[in-house]
Amino acid sequence: MKVLKFGGTSVGKPERMHEVARLITKDGERKLVVLSAVSGTTNSLIEIGDLIARSAHEAAFEAINKLHESYKVFIKGLYATPQGLAEGESVVSKHFDFIRSLAEKPYTVKESKELVAEGELISTQLFFAYLQEKNISSALLPALDFMRIDADEEPVIPYAEEHLRKAIEQHPDTVLFITQGYICRNPLNEVDNLKRGGSDYTASLVGAAIRAEEVQIWTDIDGMHNNDPRIVKKTFPIAELTFDEAAELAYFGAKILHPFTIRPAKLYNIPVRLLNTMQPEAQGTLIAHHTIEKDIKAVAAKDGIIAIKIRSSRMLLAYGFLRKLFEVFEKYKTPVDMITTSEVAVSLTIDNPTHLDSIIDEISVFGNVEVDKNQTIICIVGSFGSQKQGVVAKVFDSIEHIPVRMISYGGSNYNVSILIDTRHKNEALNALNEGLF
Ligand code: ADP
Ligand code: ASP
Ligand code: MG
Repeated sequence: MKVLKFGGTSVGKPERMHEVARLITKDGERKLVVLSAVSGTTNSLIEIGDLIARSAHEAAFEAINKLHESYKVFIKGLYATPQGLAEGESVVSKHFDFIRSLAEKPYTVKESKELVAEGELISTQLFFAYLQEKNISSALLPALDFMRIDADEEPVIPYAEEHLRKAIEQHPDTVLFITQGYICRNPLNEVDNLKRGGSDYTASLVGAAIRAEEVQIWTDIDGMHNNDPRIVKKTFPIAELTFDEAAELAYFGAKILHPFTIRPAKLYNIPVRLLNTMQPEAQGTLIAHHTIEKDIKAVAAKDGIIAIKIRSSRMLLAYGFLRKLFEVFEKYKTPVDMITTSEVAVSLTIDNPTHLDSIIDEISVFGNVEVDKNQTIICIVGSFGSQKQGVVAKVFDSIEHIPVRMISYGGSNYNVSILIDTRHKNEALNALNEGLF
């Protein structure tokens, strides 16, 4: 069975939902379809939540009404029959009643998560009702019944495996299964989510859980491009990537994939294909274990990086220093992305500022600490084994006019990372495009 995930723009208009229905029914094969919220909905829900949290109730209700109106228009375009429309109206009014109820009671993190889950709950129920209107048989499987995260916010694949398999077994004759991306339950059994863009992650997690033959991520672009198409004009799709290359690009900013999507796929060796709903015949990108060897494949950029430099003469010829330093980051569950060292200093980067002040306090005992915010990691991905020549020279020739704060090369065979001030990001991505491709 294949897993097909359709993102926000792919279900963002009634015509797009019609197209998704056409795409999933074309070959008659059994599949599990993961849907995101209608594009813009999750952003609106988060804005509504912020207003409720600030007790700006009038503004919150105004925003809820506006979103509700947009769905009333949406369903008029989605359904062709009075029965279909009545079903759509019932779905929408039920969910907006619930959203309004959240604005009327004490609002905590728990309620904020229930609120943002509404996007995927609405889109899947509207789509399911559309399939029913078209007499297309399908089953709607609630993601909240099988998607779980543990206390460290790690998804629990064995739980999904057990519960999703059982759910599918209850529908032996069903060909199409529909479920929600992004949403899950936490160890308290509350509604939670896999963070922004998390529907991609749902797709690979359920793909792993059912040992899918392939996971397809259908979006609004024809695959992973060699550079960020939002910033660079002449980018092109990459036909093939390894799991490691794709994971690196996703983690370092290629928005087409949630940063962790590749992990479960790699673990269970499930190929991931990136495809374009607007151009279904395009080849897209295939992500798998082995691919075409090619020097430099792509560039991505991740913003919001904080660089921390610790300078200490105690490091000179000492051992155990790095362990003590990294224990502080471990204590605050703050991942470190890049590291460079010299005899008397270590520079590293983090992207989660939550515990920055406590971390600085604790590492200050080791030496003098400098912090630079608003940094960007530019990640250049390809196959650069230790025998490869000239990769680094090409990269630095391309960006010779841009100040570089840190460089990381040789950590793996497939990436060079450089840290620059975010002010220079667009210029660097464009210069790398000119110089490398
Ligand atoms: P969806 O709503 O389908 O999940 P997203 O907006 O999350 O879609 O991801 C698709 C978008 O990712 C594209 O429209 C594109 O602007 C952006 N993007 C950023 N970097 C890349 C890249 N390297 N290749 C392709 N798309 C990219
Ligand atoms: N709807 C969620 C978001 O906008 C999840 C997703 O689309 O992948 O972040
Ligand atoms: Mg996305």
